[in-house]
Formats: sequence, C-alpha cells, structure tokens
Amino acid sequence: MISGQMMKYRGLYPFPPSFAKEFPPIAQVVEEHCIACDRCPPICFFDAIVMENRPGHKYSRTAVIINANCTGCGLCFDACPVDAIIWIPDKDGEAKPKTASPLMEDTDL
Ligand code: SF4
Ligand code: SF4
Repeated sequence: MISGQMMKYRGLYPFPPSFAKEFPPIAQVVEEHCIACDRCPPICFFDAIVMENRPGHKYSRTAVIINANCTGCGLCFDACPVDAIIWIPDKDGEAKPKTASPLMEDTDL
C-alpha cells in the first residue's frame, strides 16, 4: 500500500525528506550539475522551472526553480538525467498555486 506522503513526493527516494514534517519540500536545481538539457521546464505542471542564461559557464544556461510556484510534486526529479535537482525546505511558506498551468487544462492527467 502506498501512503499519501509517498504519492505526494513521488519523485523522491527515500520518501519523504527528513525535514518534511517541519517544512514542505520544494525543488532546487544544483546549477553546477545542470547540463541545460531543457527536459525539466516542460515537465512542470506549475510553470515553476525556467531556463536562465549563465555566461561563461560550460553550459551557457541553467534551469532555475521559481519557489513560489513549486508544489513539491517531484516530477522534475524523474526528468533530470544528471540528478541535478534536490529537495530543500520551503521556509518562506509562500502561497502555492491551487491549479496547474492553464496550458495543462486540456490534458487527461
Ligand atoms: S517539484 Fe513539481 S512543481 Fe516543483 S519544480 Fe518540480 S515539477 Fe515543478
Ligand atoms: S533536467 Fe536537469 S540537467 Fe536538464 S535542464 Fe533540468 S535541471 Fe538541468
């Protein structure tokens, strides 16, 4: 049987992060590991990932998480080929969107 907690944080192993009882987990990109493959932004239902320029780096762009939009669903973890995404505690407690991006409204998911 899958617990509710495991379903919410499906992208993480082991489930859930140690701080989850104190703060909700949100994703963070470890920019030094990001290879700018562009896989994670279209995966995110909540428009919480953007690609930003980083001139002078081997990879000239990096993914960046918009904390206020991240719901901690974990889908981006599965998308990343180099495990560049980690959990961090959402200590700001910013309001999260209640619905997914309008671009996803017509899907069957
Ligand atoms: S954890 Fe979910 S909501 Fe947050 S950035 Fe990843 S895919 Fe988007
Ligand atoms: S999937 Fe991983 S490597 Fe690709 S852009 Fe996102 S964070 Fe970077």
